Amino acid sequence: MNTLHQQVGKKRRKLKKRYFLLLLILLVLSGTVLFVGTSYSFREVPSPSDQLVTKPEITETPASNDQPETFTPPEESSPEPEVFPTIESDGTETPTDEQTEISSEGQTEMPMEENSEQPVEEKEPEKVVYITFDDGPSKWTEQFLDVLDAHDVKATFFMQGSNLKKEHLQESVKRAAKDGHYIGGHSMTHNYQALYSNQQFVPEMLESLDLIHEITGTTPRLVRPPYGSAPGLNGEQIRKQLADANIKIWDWTIDSHDWELPGNPSQIIQNIKQDTTSDKEVVLMHEKSQTLEALPDILNFFKDQGYIFGVYNDASHFVMNFQNDAAL
Ligand SMILES: [Zn+2]
Repeated sequence: MNTLHQQVGKKRRKLKKRYFLLLLILLVLSGTVLFVGTSYSFREVPSPSDQLVTKPEITETPASNDQPETFTPPEESSPEPEVFPTIESDGTETPTDEQTEISSEGQTEMPMEENSEQPVEEKEPEKVVYITFDDGPSKWTEQFLDVLDAHDVKATFFMQGSNLKKEHLQESVKRAAKDGHYIGGHSMTHNYQALYSNQQFVPEMLESLDLIHEITGTTPRLVRPPYGSAPGLNGEQIRKQLADANIKIWDWTIDSHDWELPGNPSQIIQNIKQDTTSDKEVVLMHEKSQTLEALPDILNFFKDQGYIFGVYNDASHFVMNFQNDAAL
């Protein structure tokens, strides 16, 4: 009996030793997983916003065909476009919530470290792209509407007062609204000096929005600042004027540079492809023939990438401006 006890005792000690070793290994392993997991997620967060910082270039179309302009675009060296849209914070906020939820659940059964990387892969947020066209209406508007219709895509147009006043183009404006596209304002003159230096931004935008209302019966509140909101709307005062007038502004996340690529639709497509990085994209394009030519491929690209096409809606506005001004 004694020997049996001794044997059992030995076995128990052995087993204890093994358990201890196993525990030690588990501790080390989970420590490593935790360390790798946290440093990985820390690395992930800043990179998209880093990319975005380089994005906003103030290179909007200088003028429409019929309206040559004397304006020279603002210096590229402007330090302005520092912070970029809430989209990114939207994107990163959601997963964080899910992450904490799942890992706190996991705690009861498994060490939570093992779960820390999974939610990033599991979550599949809806990818949305907003296709936008500036400077219309134009002689191309009808054809843009045809292509959009053929692809069952709704877009957001930012139309310019001087073009809206052309009666022969107003049928296209009406059709765009009837087809379910959004039509926002894009000033009357598209002139940098007038809009920003002479502070005519708010009155010009209001006038263009009124014109859209007269033509379509809609009451849009969204405008796109010609040349982008930076540096033109750097001043807090002018932004407060905008907020007081209940006007929202939208810049973009992807600049197609289409206006400076006549005859080169493939480069427009390339520009858009290489700038597509986020789950929420707003693509800046113009009513140009080269853009019209590139449009089917652009739409197919986003479809292939799993994006759905969003159209702006005043009731569900989200902040999308280089100023990162939450009131706009
Ligand atoms: Zn423009």
